[in-house]
Amino acid sequence: ANRKFHPEDTSVDCGHGVKIGAGHFQVIAGPCSVEGENLIRIARRVKKAGATMLRGGAFKPRTSPYAYQGMGAEGLDLLREAADELDMPIVTEIMDPRDVQLFLDKNIEVMQIGARNAQNFPLLKEVGKTNTPVLLKRGMSGTLDELLMAAEYIMSEGNENVILCERGIRTFETRTRNTFDLNAVPVLHHLSHLPVVADPSHATGYTRYVEPMALAATAAGADGLEIEVHDNPSKAWSDGAQALTPDQFDDTMRRIRAIREVI
Ligand code: PEP
Ligand code: MN
Repeated sequence: ANRKFHPEDTSVDCGHGVKIGAGHFQVIAGPCSVEGENLIRIARRVKKAGATMLRGGAFKPRTSPYAYQGMGAEGLDLLREAADELDMPIVTEIMDPRDVQLFLDKNIEVMQIGARNAQNFPLLKEVGKTNTPVLLKRGMSGTLDELLMAAEYIMSEGNENVILCERGIRTFETRTRNTFDLNAVPVLHHLSHLPVVADPSHATGYTRYVEPMALAATAAGADGLEIEVHDNPSKAWSDGAQALTPDQFDDTMRRIRAIREVI
């Protein structure tokens, strides 16, 4: 992951003609969780607004074991149908090394490693044995060096298709869900050649803060954004408080494009 070994930025090919990094900027959007038939409606709207990759969790890392845990394999099938209709790559979280074969069978284009698994070394090594791109999120209280070492766990097994993701860290501040460490964008670009994505949804936790921080991350030079969008946020099965509606996402995408034009 160290820029010492690759002076030039690298891009990761996510399939469906979508590359991220080295000048290729992509927006990953969709619901927090795959919930059912609303997925395709949300997916059509985010694609129309300009998102190039579809997100949605089928395996959800919830704080409470009694909270909604995700649709599992059936959720991957819904993602596959929506993504194929719209010709978009999928980004979806994998939590268990025993699910790698399932993700390969479903042709998942990008496996997300969530903040809670950022130092799950057996999982990192297992996805490292595939060639599937990995969106690797920063740990809840992880340093940037720990994030880069987590990337090394994947890359040292042979998989160099790693995308780094800043999603906020836990601090003493309680007004936001996490503290968005925007420094991560230029610092990771300085230290590493890998693409850097920012997730203003989990970094802030509230719909009203998502757009300003999405624009800030774009201005800071992020190679992409991951944004949660739901057609009925108050009824979402997870993370409704930070979801943009499709109409809000339309506006945010317009402003992201405006920032991209001036940087
Ligand atoms: C998610 O992307 O839905 C998610 C659980 O993110 P994080 O791991 O950053 O909390
Ligand atoms: Mn979420």
